[in-house]
Amino acid sequence: APYAPSTARYQNMQYRRSGRSGLKLPAVSLGFWHNFGDHTVFEHMKQLCFTAFDNGITHFDLANNYGPSAGAAELNAGRIIRESFAGYRDELIISTKAGYDMWPGPYGDWGSRKYLLSSLDQSLERLDLEYVDIFYHHRPDPETPLEETMGALAQAVNSGKALYVGLSNYDGPTLEKASAILDELHCPFIINQNRYSILDRSIERNGLKASAEKLGKGIITFSPLAQGLLTGRYLNGIPEDSRIKTDGRFLSQSAITDERLEQIKGLNAIAAERGQTLAEMSLAWILRDSTVTSVLAGASKPQQILDNIGALANTEFSSEELQRIDDLSLN
Ligand code: NDP
Repeated sequence: APYAPSTARYQNMQYRRSGRSGLKLPAVSLGFWHNFGDHTVFEHMKQLCFTAFDNGITHFDLANNYGPSAGAAELNAGRIIRESFAGYRDELIISTKAGYDMWPGPYGDWGSRKYLLSSLDQSLERLDLEYVDIFYHHRPDPETPLEETMGALAQAVNSGKALYVGLSNYDGPTLEKASAILDELHCPFIINQNRYSILDRSIERNGLKASAEKLGKGIITFSPLAQGLLTGRYLNGIPEDSRIKTDGRFLSQSAITDERLEQIKGLNAIAAERGQTLAEMSLAWILRDSTVTSVLAGASKPQQILDNIGALANTEFSSEELQRIDDLSLN
């Protein structure tokens, strides 16, 4: 039987405006960096997408290079959208990015107009879509003039291949310069994608968070669970089905130091007092702040998606709780 989304899918999710734009995103979004490559069973990927959409997660986040192999996540997402979401394209926000190493030679990396526009064409081909909702520059390029990269983003919108644009991994000052250029180009730049979690406060220190708020731009936070460290995953050893064991490209056993484990256990105790799982508390900690539009979490199992949505039940923190979280995590 074809997939029939739950008719209750919009009942419990919260939607938050991305900055001062017209676009709202679900408070919890689904990332395709892991678990959508060559090594995951296709049916399993479908179940992740179904669970997400059935519960109001309208936003799927991709990039040209997500895999492995590079491009595989877009191919798989494209197949899922084509086969199961055909009547629902207008209920979905699909994003992709270019900015990291994608193909050999000087035109498959960084921030040239040449790279961004050809990469977007390749992404649309793999996704089998006519446009993406958000096209990001994936990381700042110190060697290409910002005018050129921003011009390519504006061209993506003008050509109808993207509805909005975003910037990823920029800092506050670079965001402000880029935003001024995009304003001149009348380009609908609405969102920043940056790493942010209890364990990584960089955007509070590099100006990104303050600049985004000042300019009325949204923030979607990646690795909000520190790739699984801020969940119950590693409290009692390293499970065989965890990211460290199944796909340790970006998270290895060396991340679980004694000190880290002590922090995680302390945070888990605070979560338990709040009646939350550690994953729920970690996402709630980000969402308590209205400048954040959405937490962009990954998942290897449908149940994790449900757990993560559970964060929305309580995003209030007492100042004492916040202080205890800082005391455990800020050193
Ligand atoms: P998270 O910090 O959310 O980590 C996700 C992983 O944590 C899951 O794959 C799973 O790992 C584990 N997990 C998730 N929920 C739970 C739960 N409730 N209980 C227990 N374990 C859980 O995010 P990611 O690091 O995956 O990043 C999310 C997304 O952000 C990416 O998919 C991508 O879209 C984006 N991103 C963007 C970047 C950029 O430069 N713009 C860089 C990195 C990511 P497992 O079960 O396998 O242990």
